[in-house]
Amino acid sequence: MTTFVDRVELHVAAGNGGHGCASVHREKFKPLGGPDGGNGGRGGDVVLVVDRDVTTLLDYHHHPHRKATNGQPGAGDNREGKNGTDLVLPVPDGTVVMDAQGNVLADMVGQGTTFVAGSGGRGGLGNAALASARRKAPGFALLGEPGEARDIVLELKTVADVALVGYPSAGKSSLISVLSAAKPKIADYPFTTLVPNLGVVTAGSTVYTVADVPGLIPGASQGKGLGLEFLRHVERCEVLVHVLDTATLESDRDPLSDLDVIEAELTQYGAGLDERPRIVVLNKIDIPDGKDLADIIRPDLEARGYRVFEVSAVARTGLRELSFALAEIVAAARAARPVQEATRIVIRPKAVDDAGFTVTPEGEEFFRVRGEKPERWVRQTDFNNDEAVGYLADRLARLGVEDALLKQGARPGDGVAIGPEDNAVVFDWEPTMAAGAEMLGRRGEDHRFEAPRPAAQRRKERQAERDDALQEYRGFEPFED
Ligand code: GDP
Ligand code: MG
Repeated sequence: MTTFVDRVELHVAAGNGGHGCASVHREKFKPLGGPDGGNGGRGGDVVLVVDRDVTTLLDYHHHPHRKATNGQPGAGDNREGKNGTDLVLPVPDGTVVMDAQGNVLADMVGQGTTFVAGSGGRGGLGNAALASARRKAPGFALLGEPGEARDIVLELKTVADVALVGYPSAGKSSLISVLSAAKPKIADYPFTTLVPNLGVVTAGSTVYTVADVPGLIPGASQGKGLGLEFLRHVERCEVLVHVLDTATLESDRDPLSDLDVIEAELTQYGAGLDERPRIVVLNKIDIPDGKDLADIIRPDLEARGYRVFEVSAVARTGLRELSFALAEIVAAARAARPVQEATRIVIRPKAVDDAGFTVTPEGEEFFRVRGEKPERWVRQTDFNNDEAVGYLADRLARLGVEDALLKQGARPGDGVAIGPEDNAVVFDWEPTMAAGAEMLGRRGEDHRFEAPRPAAQRRKERQAERDDALQEYRGFEPFED
């Protein structure tokens, strides 16, 4: 049985980046041939894509956990790890993507519109890519970054192609039950007290869905009853059907004024429902008085421009004609729907500030560093490898983190956390530059490779180092991407 699900929680995880490889080229008679560790591959993204052939979110209701594949690690001989494969999740046109707090992240309209729900982690650089004039043979590589994991909510407004409107007891629910082959259950429906009926109708080669709008009473657009909630839900339907009761005669009501009242509510509601094509169904003509009244008001309705169908949900008359007429309108509307240009929606976290990081004192002798770069660099660091840790310290120093810590009054031995409270790397601060790291020999050098260098060469190397630092400040990252 078909189930309609118009709101699902989805847990997406992009692929992790593959680790970079630290390897040294080996050949006979050339035991130290230079670094040749390849980069890790990028993790796959999780991408939502609008696909018109998809009409429900049912799949995600059954399988709410989705993960893209990881990047492969790099290998020796400069072999790059394979990238992870993007996980493409098709969603219906009109899917709204929200975060767990209900903030709208994307309104996905138009065939092919994409939304990157989770970005794959970058692959780590291998030691070949980390080598430079001043770091000829790095004995370490960068770790791949974890892929982005996120909880999102998908909501679909288009639950029906056809919306039945009308006074309570006009026969909307009855009509749906006799028109449709399948009577879908509604799972996770946001409204608990009243549930709209939904049906799937097959007429010729056209399959469409019908929903009624229960609780639509005078004043609904001002929030009376629950009609408004349901109107919101059929906002994107292709055609509105007025179901008019021809058999129930109350002194203050007749089919024509019923129609006027409902129309007034629709106009009040706005949201483009005014432009929707409408037809009129005169229901309950199995009752003799009903048939008589239908004959009387039909010319009036046609004069107003409505196509009119006389049916009986109970006697099941006039249904075939009605269902094919609806199919025609739905098919025409689908064909005429402007093919909206596909857009790619990417949401990137905002930079913390212009400097790219912040340093905040937290109590005595403790400082927290936040920022996209420092936090990423920490994730890329293999803390079991001293050289890798040293490289991290150099990067932080060059970004200006050390200077900023000094300015904030940090002293050697103070605690420094990099990252958010729930996911930070904490260490005791040992300033590198300030403590004269230059004198101790720079990191990443295998002294077996070379004799001591003359002063002129050392100066040249220091200049290169400063150039790198400058580049990095300006937003270029010499070794990355
Ligand atoms: P809704 O409130 O618009 O969904 O109306 P329902 O489908 O619940 O119908 C209200 C009442 O009208 C029920 O008692 C139905 O049996 C009755 N009804 C619906 N359609 C017809 C019809 O074609 N002929 C007759 N005689 N009664 C009908
Ligand atoms: Mg009903």
